[in-house]
Amino acid sequence: MSMTRQDPLAFVAEEIEDLKAKHLYRPLRVMSSQQGPTVTLDGREVISLSSNDYLGLTHHPRLRQAALEAVREFGVGSGAVRTIAGTMSLHEALEAELAEFKGTAAVLTFQSGFTANTGVIPTITGEADLIVSDALNHASIIDGMRLSKAPRKVFPHKDVEALREILRGAAEDGRPDGSGPYRSILVVTDGVFSMDGDIAPLPGIVEAAEAYGAAVFVDDAHASGVLGRNGRGSVDHFGLHGRVAIQVGTLSKAVGVLGGYVAGSEALRELLIQRARPFLFSTSHPPAVVAACREAIRVMEEEPQLIERLWSSTKRFKAELTRLGFDTGRSETPITPIIVGESEAAIRFSNRLFEEGVFATSGVYPTVALDQARLRTIVTAALTDEHLDRALEAFAVGGRELGLVAG
Ligand code: PMP
Repeated sequence: MSMTRQDPLAFVAEEIEDLKAKHLYRPLRVMSSQQGPTVTLDGREVISLSSNDYLGLTHHPRLRQAALEAVREFGVGSGAVRTIAGTMSLHEALEAELAEFKGTAAVLTFQSGFTANTGVIPTITGEADLIVSDALNHASIIDGMRLSKAPRKVFPHKDVEALREILRGAAEDGRPDGSGPYRSILVVTDGVFSMDGDIAPLPGIVEAAEAYGAAVFVDDAHASGVLGRNGRGSVDHFGLHGRVAIQVGTLSKAVGVLGGYVAGSEALRELLIQRARPFLFSTSHPPAVVAACREAIRVMEEEPQLIERLWSSTKRFKAELTRLGFDTGRSETPITPIIVGESEAAIRFSNRLFEEGVFATSGVYPTVALDQARLRTIVTAALTDEHLDRALEAFAVGGRELGLVAG
C-alpha cells in the first residue's frame, strides 16, 4: 500500500500566497550600512524616513566609544539571567541613572520594550484585578494583557469620558462574580501612539483614574527621548510626576540602542525582580548595550540641540506635507503617517518613493485598520534640510503620479 506523504505544514506557504494576493505581504529590505539619515538598502543609497532613531543616537560617536570601552573591560556577554549570575554593576548603574532621569524611585530594565510590557502586566495583575486599556494600545501591551489572568475592558481610543464610565461601573459593581471589589484597577495607555503619532490625553486619564482609585500605566516607547524635558517622556511633558504609577520606556528607539525599562516604586522593582518572567528566564543585556544606553542618557542631558532639531524638522516636514495635500491624520509628534487608504496603494507609493531614493515603509493591515493603509514616516534629528527637501520632492512627484494629491 502506498501513501502519498502530505506536508502537514502546507498551510504556511498557502498563507504567504494569500497575503501576496491581498497585497499585504511585505518583503524585508536588507540594510548594508549603519542606521542613519541615509542608509544602503538592497544595495541602494536612500534617505531614511523609517527608523525610530529620533535623535540619531544609533551611530553617535559617544555611544560607539562607550560600547567599545565596555567590550574591552567587560567582554561581550553577561553570561546568564540576572537572578543567577547576570547582574553586573553596569546594569545597576544604568537603572539608578534612569530612575534619576525619570524622577522615579526605581527602574528595572528588560531586554526590550516588548518584554517590559509582557513582563510587568501579568506580574502586577491577576484574577482579582481589572485592566482598562485604550483600543489602540501597542501589540506588546495586548500580549501582556493576554498573559494576565485579569479581566480587561477596552475604551475607545483616547475617549476619557468612556474610560470614566468604565471606571465608575467597575468601582460601583465590583467583580463580575459578585465576590467584592477589585483588588486594583490598572488603566493602561501608550504615551504616544505608534501608528498615528498622537499623544494620549494623560491629564484626563490621570484625573479619571484618581477619581476611582485606579493606577495609571503609560507605555512611553515613542515618547522617550521625544516628549518632556530632554526627552523624559509624557509624564514630564504634562507635569504629572508622582501621579502615574508605572512608566514603561524603551531604549531601542530615541535612546538608539536596545532594551526596555519599567520606572516606578522600589516595591514594584522588587516584585518584578522576583516574578517578571522575561527578567527571570532570559539573559540580561550585554555590557556594550548597557554602556551605550548610559552614555545616551548623558547625551540627552548635554546635547539638547538634538531634540530641538528633531522638533523643528518635524514641524517643517508636516507643514510641507499638508501643503502638498497629503492626509497626515492626527499626528502630533515626529511619527507622521501619510494615509492613503488601500494597502495596495500604500505599497505602490512606498515602492515609487524608493525608486526616487526615499525609504518610507508602508503600514498595512493588521498593524492598522484595512482601509487605513499608510506610509509611516519619522523625521530624525540626523536628517539635514537638504535631505528633507529631497524627500518632500519625491513625495510630491510620487503622490501626483499615483493620484494621491492634486497635480
Ligand atoms: N511599546 C510601543 C508603544 C512600541 O511602539 C514599541 C515598539 N514598536 C514597543 C513597546 C516595543 O519596544 P522595543 O522595540 O524596545 O521592544
